[in-house]
Amino acid sequence: MIAQTAYCSACDKDVRIVVTDEPSHDGQANLHDSEIVCLEIGDGCTGSLCPIGAAPPTVMAARLVRNGLQTVVQPVLQASCAECGRTTTHVIVERSHAICEDCGTAKARSELTVRE
Ligand SMILES: [Zn+2]
Repeated sequence: MIAQTAYCSACDKDVRIVVTDEPSHDGQANLHDSEIVCLEIGDGCTGSLCPIGAAPPTVMAARLVRNGLQTVVQPVLQASCAECGRTTTHVIVERSHAICEDCGTAKARSELTVRE
């Protein structure tokens, strides 16, 4: 992975980003291209599109979780994930959304079935 600094027009400041490694080319199925992940996504990023990654902030936050790049300790909860078909850890982002730590799917908190 490559750490860089980039100017974010939405936040109007320089932010730290990471460009993830491209998938290996050893014959494995390539599920993902290399991705740009903003490390400073937060409460201020409520727009529909993050200019850094050309993706909604929820997608950006999902990349952050999936790549293990969270730099802020975010609240988590246990909830059943329809994608995974079991109870997994969900990271809460943007107050209104949560992301499955296992599959990276973002969903509205109101849709979650929380397990105590
Ligand atoms: Zn899941």
